Amino acid sequence: MSEALKLSMIEKGYNLGQPGEVSVLKGANIEIERGEVVALVAPSGAGKSTLLHIAGLLDTPTSGTVTIGGEDVTKLSDRKRTALRRSKVGFIYQFHHLLPEFSALENIVLPQLANGTAHGVARERAMELLTRVGVDHRADHRPAELSGGEQQRVAFCRALANAPEVLLADEPTGNLDPETSDRVFEALMELVRDTGLSALIATHNIALAHRMDRVLRLDGGIIAPVV
Ligand code: ADP
Repeated sequence: MSEALKLSMIEKGYNLGQPGEVSVLKGANIEIERGEVVALVAPSGAGKSTLLHIAGLLDTPTSGTVTIGGEDVTKLSDRKRTALRRSKVGFIYQFHHLLPEFSALENIVLPQLANGTAHGVARERAMELLTRVGVDHRADHRPAELSGGEQQRVAFCRALANAPEVLLADEPTGNLDPETSDRVFEALMELVRDTGLSALIATHNIALAHRMDRVLRLDGGIIAPVV
């Protein structure tokens, strides 16, 4: 059985061997099956962002292994990691991080061009994604001209632009007011379910967490299920 994402015995420390040494992750294990959507809850400062960055190949662990689609990615060269990250991992932050000088559509086209997709095909896919999250009428608008909820919906489309295998999200609706957050979260869940994506979604919102397949808690540097 090859799971979509597997983190094995992940340890991560900062300033190791120096004054101010911090040990954040102390042997964290996570396995996510294909099509499974898993919530990650953690007290602030527990290392949730650190863990997501390691899973998303944006950071490397001090020890332990990361497997994506059955491939151990821990020891890949920087070039191969970047290519893999671009094609197999989608990342959503709390803040949209869209490029301000480009339109909503262009923000979804650009990662596809970087991944070698032809321009016409990339535009078509970007438009299709925008339509699915109900922001197609804002395709030509720049991020500053969009509402917070719309900006985040565009960021979801960008994360899915290259049809990744795994979606990682760090408080994806944490920046929005509660009502908008609920609607935008619903749009994200529909998108994830429709595409059969595997996802690890960090949230402080316990009600949202329990709408996912499974809830994990990160505390004391390790992972435990929440029942
Ligand atoms: P969370 O997302 O759960 O709030 P983080 O993963 O951002 O937590 O941080 C976990 C801990 O690691 C915090 O105590 C933070 O201060 C520490 N930390 C994060 N990044 C660094 C770094 N680059 N250098 C030193 N300490 C760090």
